[in-house]
Amino acid sequence: MSGRPEILFPLFAGLETLGGVGEKTAKAFAALDIATPRDLLFSLPYSGIDRRFRASVQEVVPPATVTVEVEVGRHMAPRTKSAPYRVEVRDALTTFQLVFFHANGPWLDKQLPTGQRRVVSGRVELFDGIAQMVHPDYILRPGQADQIPEFEPVYHLTAGITQKLMLRAVGEVLTRVTPLVEWIDPALKERERWPDWQDAVSAAHAPEGPDDLSPQAPARRRLAYDEFFAHQLTLALARARVRRGKGRVSQGTGAVQERVLAALPYALTGAQTRAIAEIAADMAAGLRMNRLLQGDVGSGKTLVAFMALVIAVEAGGQGVMMAPTEILARQHMASLKPLAEAGGVVVELLTGRDKGAERQAKLAALARGDIQVLVGTHAVFQDDVIYHDLRVAVVDEQHRFGVGERMRLGAKGTVTDVLVMTATPIPRSLALAQYGDMDVSVLDEKPPGRKPIKTATVSDARIGEVIDHLRRAIAEGRQAYWVCPLVEESEVLELTAAEERFKHLRAALGEGNVGLVHGQMPPGERDTAMAAFQAGETKVLVATTVIEVGVDVPNASIMVIERAEHFGLAQLHQLRGRVGRGEAQSTCLLVYQTPLTEGGERRLRILRETEDGFRIAEEDLAMRGAGDLIGTAQSGLPRFMVGDLETQAALMAVAQTDARNLLREDPDLSSARGEAARVLLWLMRQDEAIRLISVG
Ligand code: ADP
Ligand code: MG
Repeated sequence: MSGRPEILFPLFAGLETLGGVGEKTAKAFAALDIATPRDLLFSLPYSGIDRRFRASVQEVVPPATVTVEVEVGRHMAPRTKSAPYRVEVRDALTTFQLVFFHANGPWLDKQLPTGQRRVVSGRVELFDGIAQMVHPDYILRPGQADQIPEFEPVYHLTAGITQKLMLRAVGEVLTRVTPLVEWIDPALKERERWPDWQDAVSAAHAPEGPDDLSPQAPARRRLAYDEFFAHQLTLALARARVRRGKGRVSQGTGAVQERVLAALPYALTGAQTRAIAEIAADMAAGLRMNRLLQGDVGSGKTLVAFMALVIAVEAGGQGVMMAPTEILARQHMASLKPLAEAGGVVVELLTGRDKGAERQAKLAALARGDIQVLVGTHAVFQDDVIYHDLRVAVVDEQHRFGVGERMRLGAKGTVTDVLVMTATPIPRSLALAQYGDMDVSVLDEKPPGRKPIKTATVSDARIGEVIDHLRRAIAEGRQAYWVCPLVEESEVLELTAAEERFKHLRAALGEGNVGLVHGQMPPGERDTAMAAFQAGETKVLVATTVIEVGVDVPNASIMVIERAEHFGLAQLHQLRGRVGRGEAQSTCLLVYQTPLTEGGERRLRILRETEDGFRIAEEDLAMRGAGDLIGTAQSGLPRFMVGDLETQAALMAVAQTDARNLLREDPDLSSARGEAARVLLWLMRQDEAIRLISVG
């Protein structure tokens, strides 16, 4: 695809090419993220004003917008500059005032000659019991009244962009819109009764009532679908490319897997068995695996990931597992080590901490193939890290990679199978938007025998009781985490709080019983503190959120989270997931400070009500919005202008199926519909997709 189709040129021209838009205005539009006519087109009104004609202002309850015909009465010019200019007017039933600040008298005399009839439209409010309309939006002769829309769309505005200007600019853009060949599946369009694209954009900017502003309005749904479809087409192109690309055939023998399974003190869950089978099938096929492993905290993802690594080893190759942080990499190493030993697999850890000769030795062993499984941070993908025969890469992602980044990884042309793991469940709509290019395995079942965690909220006024409770628990041989307040603005404050709490708990529970870990600790000390807790030498581990992910100490059965109201839902769920892993009944105490905000209270309530990570993820999305949840900047998650991930997940699913179907029938997008879809990709600025098509 050589370049942008000509039919779209007018929509991608400079904003100044629009009548009424000068250079200054064009600049002002930037604050609304509007750089081209095309952006204006997809900036839909968020509300509307009812300007239907009324006989009298008495028909509405002020304050409200009203449109009436009036007879102009006397003008009352102000005596001082600061006082307003008033014009008395009379509609069919009553008298009221038009009010103007900093008025231009002669202009008003011309606009509103006493004794003549005018149609005025504006917001009426009561002031000292008198109805008044301050600065009417419209003042027209009765013959011109049809210039006033019955229902006027309201747009997001910014300094330098008024509602009037916006209306005019949008009007200009709409005159440039030409019909486009349909890219939507005809059967789908028919079923949904969607308008053509051109009609849809026009209708979306000309709502006739509040219903037309709803995301369910056909025009809006169609435009949302267009966005989702373009996005899913991009993901589907990436996926098709990966699948077309040759993969290595990694056929496991089962021998090592068998030894590992035999060494486990438990049986696999059904979900684990299914996921492992899906992964094994991908790896044994000649296609590159590109799979997402979704599962709640504690659903046993680590074991599944390890089996993927083992299959690579059985096939005579190597596997790598990458974690986003040093702590988590170590944690993975610690949990994989016993499994690896049981299977006779050589694992090694590589992180940024490895330096000099030791690092060189590891790299050499890796290049020889003596290290079979490598666990580490980003360090495992540095340029000088050379594998003997890398067959599978497990990325423990925690939302830190975006679509674009994954695509670039794929574009490197490696044939390595990829398995991505999420830390906590993601709502379906986000999973579709963010991982639509991947195949998905879900661990929707927890290992049996897990006792539900008792979750309680406690005001910090009762922290003494919490400590008494800990003292008794320690005496019974139990262990506890104590998570200190999250201080987003200051790591120093966060650290101070943790150190204070550490001192306090040592005094209350005994010096030797309490350990401390935090992010600024020298790495060696942190490892020692973790190990002491793991071995049961310390009973209470005071920590900042560094323990959020991965940490697995089954004997720990109490989780105290201080200032829990400051944490996000997903984070609280992750933290709570650190307990409930062993035999004992586990407890999570959410300590809060009063007064609670509405959001804080709701989050704590949801945590108390459910342990279902998928439900918590949905609630989180509903409370925070998609961008927030993922951190838009790093997410690679597209920002949709019309579509809404929170409410239109089903539409996203349809778009995914449709996009994959289209590419199956027409992999090069060369049919009539395929060509139309290319225009859509340009229209939706899917640069990534356009690049994928151009390189073929
Ligand atoms: P996550 O999905 O949060 O990464 P982990 O892989 O850390 O979960 O597993 C949580 C705990 O459950 C670990 O202690 C692990 O040994 C244990 N586990 C994993 N699979 C099973 C199973 N099938 N039966 C019982 N326990 C299991
Ligand atoms: Mg894990």
